[in-house]
Amino acid sequence: AAGLMTGKRGLIMGLANDKSIAWGIARTLADHGASLAFSYQGEALRKRVEPLAAQLGSDIVLPCDVTDAASVDALFAALKDRWGGLDFLVHAIGFSNKDELRGRYVDTSRENFLMTMDISVFSFTAVARQAAAMMTNGGSMLTLTYYGAERVMPHYNVMGIAKAALEASVRYLAEDLGKDGIRVNAISAGPIKTLAASGIGDFRYIMKWNELNSPLRRNVTTEDVGRSALYLLSDLGSGVTGETHHVDAGYHVVGMKAVDAPDI
Ligand code: NAD
Repeated sequence: AAGLMTGKRGLIMGLANDKSIAWGIARTLADHGASLAFSYQGEALRKRVEPLAAQLGSDIVLPCDVTDAASVDALFAALKDRWGGLDFLVHAIGFSNKDELRGRYVDTSRENFLMTMDISVFSFTAVARQAAAMMTNGGSMLTLTYYGAERVMPHYNVMGIAKAALEASVRYLAEDLGKDGIRVNAISAGPIKTLAASGIGDFRYIMKWNELNSPLRRNVTTEDVGRSALYLLSDLGSGVTGETHHVDAGYHVVGMKAVDAPDI
């Protein structure tokens, strides 16, 4: 059936399992007619990602560890071989040592600072360059960020600094690639229980706080993120680039929440 994404081919990076934000996005895009390719990090994830890809009618499942430039080159060479062109890219990759996703930011080590920035920030720039070279008819790219980039959140620490840099890189990439008709945006998702999130200290408390304090009074799902990704990656978002779009049940607009109970 014809859909918003019919005829569009895209690469999804960062699928680990069916809790991944990448999975919510991939399912929504496939539902609307997209053809998908997937990259996975390391052999252990291949057996998880292959069956998920198959569920969405994809047999393009390729390894890529973004810390290894040769591995990124090989991914795009294989994709070029298979498809020639590309219409969209989803980058749902982030990592920091979980020992530093608790305690104080000031105690961050140089080693983990550099690794976090490499995997969570530079990788988007590196894959954007390679993807753009394949987007000869224009395209749309999306990465995932979090409110910890804008305000201090407990335990987010070095990841907050990395997400701030990622959001800035979205703006610079939007300018660089805009003249080729390529749009670059980020979704700032509210907290969702995924593998990556389980490394963050007190994550259950953070989720509860967001549920109680967001205007919608709930947490978001990977399907919520998927629907907004569809807007940004399809022609519905044709006038939007360089943007960080919040999909967080409105949490980021609240300074202080009114008490629901009338007599307090
Ligand atoms: P996830 O664990 O499902 O996905 C993280 C992915 O990053 C995994 O697939 C992992 O393999 C990949 N990855 C890590 N290091 C890599 C490397 N060196 N090379 C290639 N891939 C690598 O968790 P998720 O929550 O779906 O995370 C996806 C994105 O969403 C991340 O950027 C995360 O920071 C962001 N995000 C998550 C939340 C949340 O609450 N879960 C909120 C806002 C933003």
